[in-house]
Amino acid sequence: MNAPSTTPNSQPTPEAEVAGVPGVNGVPGESHFALVLNSGSSSIKFQVLDPLAATATSEPFVSGLVEQIGEPMGRITLKAGGEKYVLEEPIPDHAEGLRLSFDLMDQHGCGPTQVKIQAVGHRVVHGGILFSQPEIITDQIVDMIRDLIPLAPLHNPANIDGIEVARRILPDIPHVAVFDTGFFHSMPPAAALYAVNAEVAMQNGVRRYGFHGTSHEYVSQQVPGLLGLPERAVNQITLHLGNGASAAAIRGGEAVDTTMGMTPLAGLVMGTRSGDIDPGIIFHLYRTAGMSIDDIDELLNRKSGVKGLSGVNDFRELRAMIEDEDQDAWLAYNVYIHQLRKFIGAYMIALGRVNAITFTAGVGENDRFVRADALAGLEAFGIKLDPERNAAPNDGPREISTDDSAVKVFVVPTNEELAIAKYAVELAEKQ
Ligand code: ADP
Repeated sequence: MNAPSTTPNSQPTPEAEVAGVPGVNGVPGESHFALVLNSGSSSIKFQVLDPLAATATSEPFVSGLVEQIGEPMGRITLKAGGEKYVLEEPIPDHAEGLRLSFDLMDQHGCGPTQVKIQAVGHRVVHGGILFSQPEIITDQIVDMIRDLIPLAPLHNPANIDGIEVARRILPDIPHVAVFDTGFFHSMPPAAALYAVNAEVAMQNGVRRYGFHGTSHEYVSQQVPGLLGLPERAVNQITLHLGNGASAAAIRGGEAVDTTMGMTPLAGLVMGTRSGDIDPGIIFHLYRTAGMSIDDIDELLNRKSGVKGLSGVNDFRELRAMIEDEDQDAWLAYNVYIHQLRKFIGAYMIALGRVNAITFTAGVGENDRFVRADALAGLEAFGIKLDPERNAAPNDGPREISTDDSAVKVFVVPTNEELAIAKYAVELAEKQ
């Protein structure tokens, strides 16, 4: 393989530096490294981390991204030991992408031949009604994930590619599938069913599945500890506000409702997705504006949301535009906040009693304006944000409500890779 071209100012990391991790390269100590793979149609994101030692905000031991698989020129970016390495060459398929990534990791002292990987965790987008829990991957599990392709035609095939390739390259290590939908399996029928003709819905798997489940579960599991209450006593709302965004209502550790639906297009306004719209808009655009179904899919998934209204989807840019008094940016922000507040209200009623509201993901963890505006003026509902706590720079789990707020408000950093790694190692140890 070609020698990797390192990025400007970066020197290949001395092997000993990366190898100074306990349990790596023969250094004594017990390591529990997991490889986490998130395979898309033309990309693979991966991390190697020790889920027993890592925190949500700690850097993984290794992280990487394979991009432009199947295009004339591909690219692998690897971060390890504080250094960044870039390899550019054609990557015909996922198998070659993973093989090249492993070679690159090995060259820098942090690959599967040097680091003992205990388990491989695979993010799988759609588990349908078949999967409520992570599963050790067998041929039968792969077949079941394949059966779900009609529900996630873009995502599940790529996830299966990643699983098959990784199982071939690392055949002696347990592989675990963690489903984005799994946490929402517990939703009661009243929340999971749409009022769509029952026969058509059943024949076509039309129901609410929910997504971002790994994140909502991971974040919500930390809240009882912050409250000093047992999980079964806690009713909570979690707000995963990243580029994709979703809210979840959780009672005693079980999800009872969520904003994403049969697909991740539903619910909150997102970076580029519309969130909930009148479904009649789709018929109108098809019949009257002459748009094809693929055009409308692209419109609602990639050209709508905050970006569709303002031109940008990154909240840092949106804030800068608002400060420059850009009217479109201001309007986009208000539409986003309005929809978010509506769902917070809906979930307070759905739960009846709420102990905590928690913000997470890129926007939720970092944008104090969004947090303040989402909960402004709700003192009558027992929600009182503390402006100083909300504005204080901090990247750990923290309370941002006042001491006398009946509903506690938290920021809890999410880390889906860490959650997947924990499951992978946990299931591998049980085997
Ligand atoms: P993804 O959904 O892609 O996993 P993330 O959870 O990483 O996304 O969130 C990415 C988004 O977080 C960015 O598009 C940006 O809008 C927002 N974001 C990241 N950092 C900040 C920040 N410091 N202030 C405001 N927004 C931020």
